[in-house]
Amino acid sequence: MKYIIVLGDGMADYPVPQLGNKTPLQVANKPNMDKLAAKGCCGLLKTVPDNITPGSGPAILSVMGYDPRIYYTGRGPLEAAARNIELNQNDVAYRCNIITEKDGKIVDYSAGHITNSESSKLIESVKQNFEQKGNIEFFEGLDYRHFLVLRNYMYPEIVECTPPHNAIGVEISQVLPKNSSEQTKNTADMLSKMILDSNKILENHPVNVARKEAGKNVGNMIWPWGGGRKPSMPLFLERYGVEGAVITAVDLVKGIGVYTGMKIVEVEGATGLYNTNYEGKAQAALDALKECDFVFVHVEAPDEAGHGKDYELKVKTIEDLDKRLLGNILDGLNEECTVAVLPDHPTPITVGTHTSDPVPFAIYSPDTKADEVTKFDEDSAKSGGFGLIEGEAFMNLVFRGTKQ
Ligand SMILES: [Zn+2]
Repeated sequence: MKYIIVLGDGMADYPVPQLGNKTPLQVANKPNMDKLAAKGCCGLLKTVPDNITPGSGPAILSVMGYDPRIYYTGRGPLEAAARNIELNQNDVAYRCNIITEKDGKIVDYSAGHITNSESSKLIESVKQNFEQKGNIEFFEGLDYRHFLVLRNYMYPEIVECTPPHNAIGVEISQVLPKNSSEQTKNTADMLSKMILDSNKILENHPVNVARKEAGKNVGNMIWPWGGGRKPSMPLFLERYGVEGAVITAVDLVKGIGVYTGMKIVEVEGATGLYNTNYEGKAQAALDALKECDFVFVHVEAPDEAGHGKDYELKVKTIEDLDKRLLGNILDGLNEECTVAVLPDHPTPITVGTHTSDPVPFAIYSPDTKADEVTKFDEDSAKSGGFGLIEGEAFMNLVFRGTKQ
C-alpha cells in the first residue's frame, strides 16, 4: 500500500457573506475532493491544541502525528533547517526579516517584497556590522527572509520577539524584544539595540537609495522573530515504518521534513502562491511514490488567499488544487493507494488569519468502508464516520491496517 496526503494550507473557512454564507470549500467546484469524501470516510481533526497559537508549523506537525506541544520549538529553527543552516543544541535560530520602518513604525514586514539580489546585499552589510563568529551569526535566506542565530545561548528561556506582520503600524518602541526575566534581559537589550542600529546602517545603503528613487519600500531595518532551539523529532520511518517524502514550496514545511528524516522533493515553479506549478507537484508526487511509500504534498496558495481576504481567489486556489493537483494524482496512480485530503488549519476570509477550529478531512483507502458523506467541506465532515479526532489519531487512521 502507498499513502498520499494532500494538504491545502488554510483551506477551511467560515461562511462568507459574499458567497451566500457558504464557505469557499462549499462553493468551489472540486469533484476530486468530493469523490474522496464519497468513496472514503470523513471527520474533523483538531490540529492545534488550545494553548498554542494557530499556525502552519504546529498544525502540520500535528497532522503528521507529532504533538506540537512537544516538537514545535518555533519557526526559526524549522526554516533554518530547510536552508541547511547547522544548529547545535544550545543555539537559538530566529527568522530575521528585512522590514520597512517609517516614522518609528513598522510599515512593511517584507520591505515591499524586496528582491533576492537586493536583500542579499542588505543582509551582507548587517553581517559585516553585527556578526560575532561563534556568538551572533547571520545567514542569508530567500528574499526578505534571513536568519539570525545566537550561538551557545545557555539560558533556558528564549527572548520572545513580535512577528513583524502582527505589528504593522505599531510604534517600534512598543514591540522591541523585551526581557521577561533577569536572565534574558541582556539578550533582549542586545537584540533591541541591534534592530535600532540596523536602521542607521541600512537607511542610506545604495540598494535603498535606488529603491527610494523607484518609489519602492526600503529595507531599512532587520527584525528577528520566531526564535527557537533545534527540535528533536523521532524519524518518520521509525514512527510509521515507511519512507516519506515532502513536496512543498514553503521552508517551514521543508524543515519539518528535514527533522523527521523525509526526502525533500524540489519542484520547478512551486511558488507558494496561486500561480504555483500544480501539475509539476502532481507529477513529483507520483514520481516520489515510486521510491517512498508515503508522500506529503503541501499547497500554500489557499492560505495566502485567506490572509488577503480574497474569497474569489480562495475558491480558485481550491479548484486548481482539486483539478490540477489532486485530479492528476488520482489519474496517475497505478497501484493501491490511501489518499487523504485536508487543510492544516482554517484561514477564514472574514478573519484574515489562522484559527484553531477543527478542520475537515477525508481519507480514501481501497479497504475502507465509505460513510454517508458525499461532499468535502466543513459542514459535511461533521457527520463523517471518523467523528472529531485530535492530533496523531489522524495518521493512525491513514496508516490503519498497516504494520507499524
Ligand atoms: Zn498553514
